[in-house]
Amino acid sequence: DLAMYLAKSSGKNRVVVYAEGMERAAQTKAELITDLDSAVAEGQFAVHYQPTVELSEGVTTGYEALLRWQHPTRGLVPPLEFIPLAEESGAIVEIGRWVLTEATRQAAQWSRQAGRPIDVAVNLSPRQLLDDDVAAAVRAALDASGLPAGQLTLEVTEGVLIDDVEAVVDTLRALRLLGVRIAIDDFGTGYSSLSYLRRLPADVVKIDRSFVQDLGTGGRSTTLVASIIELARSLHLEVVAEGVETEEQHAVLGRLACSHAQGYLFGRPQPAAVQQPAAAVPVPQPRTEATLAARP
Ligand code: C2E
Ligand code: MG
Ligand code: MG
Ligand code: MG
Repeated sequence: DLAMYLAKSSGKNRVVVYAEGMERAAQTKAELITDLDSAVAEGQFAVHYQPTVELSEGVTTGYEALLRWQHPTRGLVPPLEFIPLAEESGAIVEIGRWVLTEATRQAAQWSRQAGRPIDVAVNLSPRQLLDDDVAAAVRAALDASGLPAGQLTLEVTEGVLIDDVEAVVDTLRALRLLGVRIAIDDFGTGYSSLSYLRRLPADVVKIDRSFVQDLGTGGRSTTLVASIIELARSLHLEVVAEGVETEEQHAVLGRLACSHAQGYLFGRPQPAAVQQPAAAVPVPQPRTEATLAARP
């Protein structure tokens, strides 16, 4: 192929190095796939939480659950490296159930502590959606945690439409019947975003970070983001802008009346112990005779 041709054309030794590199990569991949099988049982996964902020009030309304794998010898492996492998091997089904259980439990606990509903969003990959038990797994997680279904959002990308569109749409409908919300993640990056917006039953659109990053730099992104927000509004979908890093991007989103946002500006993904959702503003207690008498 092309890579091999380029390697060859730049000297004979390169071919050997290249082939060794390929072999090593294949071996690493095989090892990671094996290690993924026992990672849930070994307690190597953690969920980190990134706040979602309601922009008009500046209040954190919920968190996105983002999976982290602490590999015993390789250290922290990023999700973009291991999730495709877990998809390929099927391990994602068990891992995904663990994330659902953990994230719903955490959101229910935070909601009790804060005295207001704290939402949580969990990413689902294509293989999880095609597993015929995903609705049962979601139901089980909601039951075990006591989290109201309306506080759980499931995020899917256009990738879920690659395989069996009808089966995926049926599954998303079944999930919505449970009362959970469906978000279209990374919106705008697919080659047919508008057509999947039409096909997927959804409640939320998450504008991909790549559009948000360019806001306020004078390019076309502001117009594009304004259009997505307008489109979402007319379809009665909630909008979340992803990857907000600067005050300038924040200000532009405010002017465009974007309802929700996420990004390093508001908070990075952190372990649950680090995140502390603020309690509801306490309702002032009426003064009683006793408290009035106790005043100096
Ligand atoms: P995603 O669902 O689009 O999540 C957003 C990603 O952007 C996260 O990367 C987050 O850490 C990062 N991010 C958030 N704010 C900012 C920002 O302001 N600037 C920049 N540069 N990045 C920001 P992360 O945690 O590495 O996750 C990558 C992807 O892995 C996720 O993309 C999601 O597709 C997938 N993923 C993560 N956890 C799970 C999971 O439990 N299950 C499945 N199936 N996929 C997951
Ligand atoms: Mg997501
Ligand atoms: Mg996203
Ligand atoms: Mg993204």
